[in-house]
Amino acid sequence: MEFLSRKARGIAPYTAGEQPQDRTYIKLNTNENPYPPSPEAAKALRAFAAETLRLYPRPDAGLLRAAIARAEGVGEENVFCGNGSDEVLALSFPAFFDAHGVGACFADLTYSFYEVFAAFFDIPKTVVPLRADFTFDLERMKQTPCAGYYIANPNAPTGVGIGLAEMERFVASVPEKLVILDEAYMDFFGESGVPLTKKYSNVLVVKTFSKSYALAGMRCGYAVGDAALIDGLFRMKDCFNSYPVDRVAEAVCAAAVGDRDYYRAVTARVVSERERLRAELLSLGFTVPESRSNFLFAGRVRLSGREIYQGLKAAGVLVRYWDRPVLRDFVRITVGTPEENGVLTEQLKKLLS
Ligand SMILES: *Cc1c(COP(=O)(O)O)cnc(C)c1O
Repeated sequence: MEFLSRKARGIAPYTAGEQPQDRTYIKLNTNENPYPPSPEAAKALRAFAAETLRLYPRPDAGLLRAAIARAEGVGEENVFCGNGSDEVLALSFPAFFDAHGVGACFADLTYSFYEVFAAFFDIPKTVVPLRADFTFDLERMKQTPCAGYYIANPNAPTGVGIGLAEMERFVASVPEKLVILDEAYMDFFGESGVPLTKKYSNVLVVKTFSKSYALAGMRCGYAVGDAALIDGLFRMKDCFNSYPVDRVAEAVCAAAVGDRDYYRAVTARVVSERERLRAELLSLGFTVPESRSNFLFAGRVRLSGREIYQGLKAAGVLVRYWDRPVLRDFVRITVGTPEENGVLTEQLKKLLS
C-alpha cells in the first residue's frame, strides 16, 4: 500500500546544513553566530516562570510583536512573528501568490528554500540568473512577468548585498508587484528595507533571530510591512498553527530585541573578522565576492567545493558546499571567532599545498 500523497512522493525537500553529533567540529557551515545571545536574553530565560507554560501563548506573540515594533519604529499592526523566518517565508507563498498563477521571480543562485516553497504550494517560478560577478540582475527581474519577487539581501550563499538606494529604485519601479526582502543577514550590512515599508505598500521585509541575534535554537523570525500584507500572513498562519511562537521564545526574543548595544558590538566583531578572513582567503588564491553577511563564498582554486569540504571535515572544520553548477566550485564559510578562523585558514593552507 502506498500511503504517501503524490506531493509527498514527488517533492524535493530543502536540505539543511548538517548538525553532526559524531565529534566536536568547528562549525562554520550554517551561519550561526559564534558569540552567545545577549545577557538580557539569558536573563529572561532564567527568569521564565515554568508554570505559565500551562497556558497557550498569545496567538500574535503580542509581547514580542510590541518589542519588535518599538525596535523597528513601526506599528504593531505592521509586524508578524513566526516559528523561524523560514515559516514566515513559507506562509508568504500562499498569502501572496496564486497556485498556477503568474508566479514568483527570484535569482538562480539564492536561498534554495524559495524553490521548495514554490513547488510545495504549486506556485510557478521564474528564475533569473545572477550576473557573472554574482550581483542581482534587477533590470532583467523588473522585466520578468510575475506577481512578486523574493530577494535575499544580502544574498545567500554569495553574501552580495544591494544598497538601500538601489533597492528603493527597484521597489518604486514595480509598484504592482510585491517585493519580499529576506533580510536574514541584514544586520551585517546595515541597509535594511524596513524604512521602505512605510513608504511603499509593495514591500515586505522578513528577518530572523537565528543569525545576528545568536538565537537559532529559539526558532523565531518576523515580517515587517503594510498592515494589509501582515493580515495576509495572519490568515495563512491561522490555517496552519494558531501559536507558532511559544512563550519561552516570545520572552527571550523580546529581551534580545531590547539589547541593541550588545548586538551592535557583537555584529561589529563579526564584520571586522569577516574582512580579515576575506583578505586571507584572497591571499590564498580564492575568488571571494565582497560579502555583506556573516559568511564568505570562496572558491575557484585547484580543489572543488566538495574536496575542500571533505578535507576540512576530516580536520574537524565544517563548511557548506553544494553539488550544483557554479556552486560546486565554491564553499560557503561562516565567519567564526578569530581562533576558529585561524584553524580554518591553517587547514586550507595544508589542503592547497
Ligand atoms: C538562515 C536563513 C533564513 C532563516 O532562518 P530561520 O532560522 O528559519 O529564521 C532565511 N533566509 C535566509 C537567506 C537564511 O540564510
